[in-house]
Amino acid sequence: MAEAYHAKPADDVLAALETSASGLSQEEAEARLRAHGPNRLPEAKKRHVVLRFLAHFHNVLIYVLLASAVITAAMEHFVDTGVILAVVIANAIIGFIQEGRAEKAMESLRSMLAPKAAVLRDGTRRSVDGQDLVPGDIVLLEAGDKVPADMRLLRVHGLQVQEAILTGESVPVEKATAPGAEDAPLGDRSAMAFSGTLVTAGIGRGVVVATGAKSEIGRISSLLSEVEVLTTPLVRQMDVFAKWLTVLILIVAAVLLLFGYFVEHHEFADMFMAVVGLSVAAIPEGLPAVLTITLAVGVQAMARRNAIVRRLPAIETLGSVSVICSDKTGTLTRNEMMVASVAVDRDLFVLEGEGYAPEGAIRLNDRVIEGRDHALLQELARAAALCNDAELHLKEDGWIVEGDPMEGALLALSGKVGLDPRAEADAWARTDAIPFDAKHRFMATLNHDHERRAFAFVKGAPERILAMCAEQRAADGGTQALDDDHWYETAEAIAARGQRVLAFAVRPVEADHTVLDFSDVEGSLILVGLVGLIDPPRPEAIAAVAECREAGIRVKMITGDHAGTAAAIGRQIGLENPDKVLTGADLDALDETDLAAAVLDTDIFARTSPEHKLRLVMALQSHGLTVAMTGDGVNDAPALKRADAGIAMGRKGSEAAKEAAELVLADDNFASIAAAVREGRTVYDNIKKVISWTLPTNAGEAMTIIVALLFGMTLPITPIQILWINLVTAVTLGLALAFEPTEENTMRRPPRPRHEPILTAHLAWQIVLVSGLFFGGVFGVYAYATDRGYPLDLARTMAMNTLVVMEIFYLFFVRSLYGPSLTWAGLRGTPMIWTMAISVTLAQFAITYVPLMQRIFGTAPVPLADGLLIVGVGVVLFAIIEVEKKLRLVAAGGTLR
Ligand code: ADP
Ligand code: MG
Repeated sequence: MAEAYHAKPADDVLAALETSASGLSQEEAEARLRAHGPNRLPEAKKRHVVLRFLAHFHNVLIYVLLASAVITAAMEHFVDTGVILAVVIANAIIGFIQEGRAEKAMESLRSMLAPKAAVLRDGTRRSVDGQDLVPGDIVLLEAGDKVPADMRLLRVHGLQVQEAILTGESVPVEKATAPGAEDAPLGDRSAMAFSGTLVTAGIGRGVVVATGAKSEIGRISSLLSEVEVLTTPLVRQMDVFAKWLTVLILIVAAVLLLFGYFVEHHEFADMFMAVVGLSVAAIPEGLPAVLTITLAVGVQAMARRNAIVRRLPAIETLGSVSVICSDKTGTLTRNEMMVASVAVDRDLFVLEGEGYAPEGAIRLNDRVIEGRDHALLQELARAAALCNDAELHLKEDGWIVEGDPMEGALLALSGKVGLDPRAEADAWARTDAIPFDAKHRFMATLNHDHERRAFAFVKGAPERILAMCAEQRAADGGTQALDDDHWYETAEAIAARGQRVLAFAVRPVEADHTVLDFSDVEGSLILVGLVGLIDPPRPEAIAAVAECREAGIRVKMITGDHAGTAAAIGRQIGLENPDKVLTGADLDALDETDLAAAVLDTDIFARTSPEHKLRLVMALQSHGLTVAMTGDGVNDAPALKRADAGIAMGRKGSEAAKEAAELVLADDNFASIAAAVREGRTVYDNIKKVISWTLPTNAGEAMTIIVALLFGMTLPITPIQILWINLVTAVTLGLALAFEPTEENTMRRPPRPRHEPILTAHLAWQIVLVSGLFFGGVFGVYAYATDRGYPLDLARTMAMNTLVVMEIFYLFFVRSLYGPSLTWAGLRGTPMIWTMAISVTLAQFAITYVPLMQRIFGTAPVPLADGLLIVGVGVVLFAIIEVEKKLRLVAAGGTLR
């Protein structure tokens, strides 16, 4: 930083940046953006495409193959050399595709997670992309925000910032506005907030002094631009598995080479080609790459459904989620609020209207009234307009809220009552405020008018506000003793209709009082009235809750709202047990054992604070459940971290919550959680399918060669033909499974146990069974052909085609893991499956019937009848494994686990 902004008075900084406390104009901001460039950290340089492609040759198997290519070339078996090289290149291509897919997936996640910033432009509050900030912008900060650029603070209220990313100090530091010493180290520059640090408490505003690479973080960003790789524990485990399997196979191959040469006295060249063929056949070389593609496809599918994966293992965890704890407001409900009732004195007004439009009828006892005639209604509306941080804007398609929707609804209320919120805000200048916090559940502002009158306006949860009140507003405008019981009853009645209840209170203060403390509002307030807001449930959330129930996933609602409101919404949403509600106070009275006992059959937790979420997660986890938990505030971070799948809200969620979460919902919608679970299950199934297809086919191919070598038989498939099969099938059939859509009954099965191993006893059995059948099919057809006196080339061509046909049939079989494979949907397949199957078939026709190919691969044209026989073998294979699955299905009572 060239200038020591932290050591200068705020006004000097504003002057130096040619801006003012009310911000830049949009025009000026755009001009500055062109001059300064976007507020983004410079991206790490990418390696050149060629280098990235070459990197895929860095692999043990490839080295072995390259060595084989050299050896075959030395033996002047140039055709073999060519095919081996083709296999090597095909492998590098899959690796390259995989990398591209993974990168694209990660890229889209990054762009969807781009943060927003609240700024003042043209004097009004606006939310802009963080990367559009320019020096001179006035930025508003609140707890949970990530500071979007380096700024000099102009105003703070209890502002604390965690600057570990810059200073390594994890304890949040208190911020101030007074200039500090010029030579103060970063951590002591209390008048500054630095890009990338996290606001943990309070609110503040500041002027941007440096953006992008010029910010403090930008200057050290080379340290931070590490790239995350697309992997999960399961895929890593398979990676290691594939490596050791490779080693094992290479040892077996070496032993066989020695055995064949010294014991059976085969030609070295023949033996060498045979073990090369064996290695290529047996080693699942494409497996890790295909699994990564499966993950990338899953990540992208989730992103399309508004679920952005921040930590990749979450893809796996989501599939095993057994409990989802969800926020209510905005997640299960629309967060499109409207004030529907207002209670002042003994009157209950009912309001009508559309959205946030500040107009609509007000009724009292079924008669439309004029808001201006009711002084108490006016007073409440004034408090609602002033104790408020939102703004309403009229856009082409109606009124929209900038800020909290509930506060937007309150502005609309004051409009309906006949006030102009802007004019009120001008007449009653705000001098201080206590921001809303889910912990204390109220918000207060201190406002002064031009006639030296001053009031504290307070709004918040009714129980909380009532506890802070001594008196209430009387019909004549004076005060009278607080009638607690009446207000509690009214609050209950409003809540029972599913409305969110808010209480309003005021207190006159001395004119020279300009700082608001908790002591100013505790115990001495005058209650003005209550407001009930409707926030209808999201229809898609209702459907998603039902889907979760079918999928064996329990949905629980955790809210800061009133128990009555929560229960009413819980019933509308279709929670399993909406009649039992535990409140935050109830939870406080339970110890961990009682809580663990109570937590299972309670679905609604009301009036909770963020700390309760952490206890609930742990209580649920103590039953071995896999818990997904949503959150938005800075205080939700510990619970999100602790949950198996922490889910943050993309829109209303704070950056702090997003950083702690595994998953971010772009639309804050519960339905997106259900969609993510469904995708998580799909990805896991597809991983299982890829493995279930790859391992048995590889084993079958390998067994054919090993047995022939051990028993001194002629190879039923030549090594070069084996290489060919691997070349064409590896880039087609196995890969197709990465793109498999969700199976029909995916959300009708209970969640999979958390730590279920992927290589189950059943999969092991399947490998044995299927590779045995492959082996039987190949030798069967080969024996049939030699028995009929066919020439060796033809017999081998038939054996090779049999192998490929069986692989295709097996591919269709593997597509359904849990139900029968022989169904209409199963046969109809997907465009992907059919494209791959047809490509492979065409390739087989080519190698069988094209003369040039026949010369290279030593194949012979197969007569039609024998061709049909080969397809018949595929059908028999399918029939056997399908019947075997049916037997297991019957034994398991319908669905497989
Ligand atoms: P939720 O779980 O529904 O998001 P919150 O923690 O946001 O609940 O809010 C809990 C309660 O705090 C609400 O029922 C309301 O009474 C009160 N409240 C919420 N937002 C505000 C606000 N901006 N100002 C004052 N009170 C609020
Ligand atoms: Mg909330």
